[in-house]
Amino acid sequence: MTARVLVVDDVELNVKLLEAKLSSEYFQVIPAFNGPTALELAEAELPDIILLDVMMPRMDGFEVCRRLKANPRTTDIPVVMVTALSDIADRLRGLEAGADDFLTKPVNDIALFARVRSLIRLKRMMEELRLREEICGRFSQEEQSDHPEAVRGAHILLVEQQGFGASRIAETLAPIAESVRQVGSGDEAQTVLDESIELIILSLSMPDGDPLRLVSQWRAVEAFRQLPILLLADEGELPRLAKGLDLGANDYLIRPVDRNEMLARVRTQVRRKRLQDRLHENYRRSLSLALTDELTGLYNRRYVVAHIEELVARFNNDGAPETSVMMFDVDHFKQVNDQFGHPGGDDALRQLADRALRGVRSIDLVARLGGEEFVVVMPETNLHAGLTVAERLRQSVAAEPFLIHTAGERRPITISVGVAVTQPGDTVDALLQRADDALYQAKNAGRNRVVTQNGETMPARLAAAS
Ligand code: GH3
Ligand code: MG
Ligand code: MG
Repeated sequence: MTARVLVVDDVELNVKLLEAKLSSEYFQVIPAFNGPTALELAEAELPDIILLDVMMPRMDGFEVCRRLKANPRTTDIPVVMVTALSDIADRLRGLEAGADDFLTKPVNDIALFARVRSLIRLKRMMEELRLREEICGRFSQEEQSDHPEAVRGAHILLVEQQGFGASRIAETLAPIAESVRQVGSGDEAQTVLDESIELIILSLSMPDGDPLRLVSQWRAVEAFRQLPILLLADEGELPRLAKGLDLGANDYLIRPVDRNEMLARVRTQVRRKRLQDRLHENYRRSLSLALTDELTGLYNRRYVVAHIEELVARFNNDGAPETSVMMFDVDHFKQVNDQFGHPGGDDALRQLADRALRGVRSIDLVARLGGEEFVVVMPETNLHAGLTVAERLRQSVAAEPFLIHTAGERRPITISVGVAVTQPGDTVDALLQRADDALYQAKNAGRNRVVTQNGETMPARLAAAS
């Protein structure tokens, strides 16, 4: 994940320190050494996240945060307050000023990257949601629902040994939770976990079973892949914690848990989950707005063109990050129709749509252009990343034959893919044309392959490994 981070601190050394850590993970840092400059830069540069020192002369961090949140242009940018270890009162004031999270000095790497990533993910989800609502609003006069800024009524599953402060956690979460269900083991968690749960708090110190194994199991199941997981650990468990985050946990808390910190982290995760659910719900609703394709349920050409138009305009006019587009087409699809008849071909197309949806991120958009031709729009994705995603999709299609239900037979199917990326002065037509030209090259080169607008393909060695 690359992103732009505004780092605000009056002590130059602190800025340098954070800059070094963040650039090592390919984040781009915008430095600011006082509040007024930070406000100017936030508005001019629209960073993805702001790390804000509390103690600064002239204007302190609380005031900067209040002003950021009061300005409509900057109100959606997540703010992380950087406070001294002991200042619990400061955290509370930070929350009141509208901060989204805290980090304590000295900032450790695991905490920094966990928070920055989870907040950036939330912000992207929010942007994508607004974009889709805007486009749907263009086609229909239907009123748009308000954004759920406050989190209430959350359903939380707490996986923690009895007597380990479970009741204190439930009490802490009372203002935002409708239910906090506590179970004492992984097995028990598996039996009570259902779709009403919006967040799992998972203790790393459980006597039976391996909590990290649970994380990887949940991440492997489609229904729970997006379910937020918050780890609960002791100071000495940092290496396992890092492993847990690698496996797909979203964030963590260290015992003894600070109440405000827990509330802030839980709120962030539940908000993200709800935004995500709304994205899916929007998508389901738009079925009735003639924006989707009847056969596959994917977005149709009309919708996807409007979506790309908006992204291209933002790229050209607002300096928004580049968007990659992949276009793919089934290889020798006529033969599928010839072998199984039109209904058999339709069955294959529906399954292809499912595989495509499963193979991309939830902010990516999959559409059927018509016939056996599809497109995937990937915001904030450069050509190389687009190539990687396309190659993964190509492999997932080729790897497993399709079961044609009408015939009860399995048949291998492959796709050819062209990938293009926005470039200065682009138009939707030009962008799609480059993807189409690349797709044509992939067909000519023998099919079942990915080619980019520059004629690149994934080297065979890497393609086999990924
Ligand atoms: P290639 O793309 O590899 O060059 O070969 P192809 O056989 O896929 O080539 P072509 O694009 O010419 O053929 C596409 C076929 O897809 C022709 C058309 O009858 C069929 N087709 C288009 N839309 C549908 C549909 O909605 N359902 C079914 N079953 N078939 C469709
Ligand atoms: Mg074809
Ligand atoms: Mg075709």
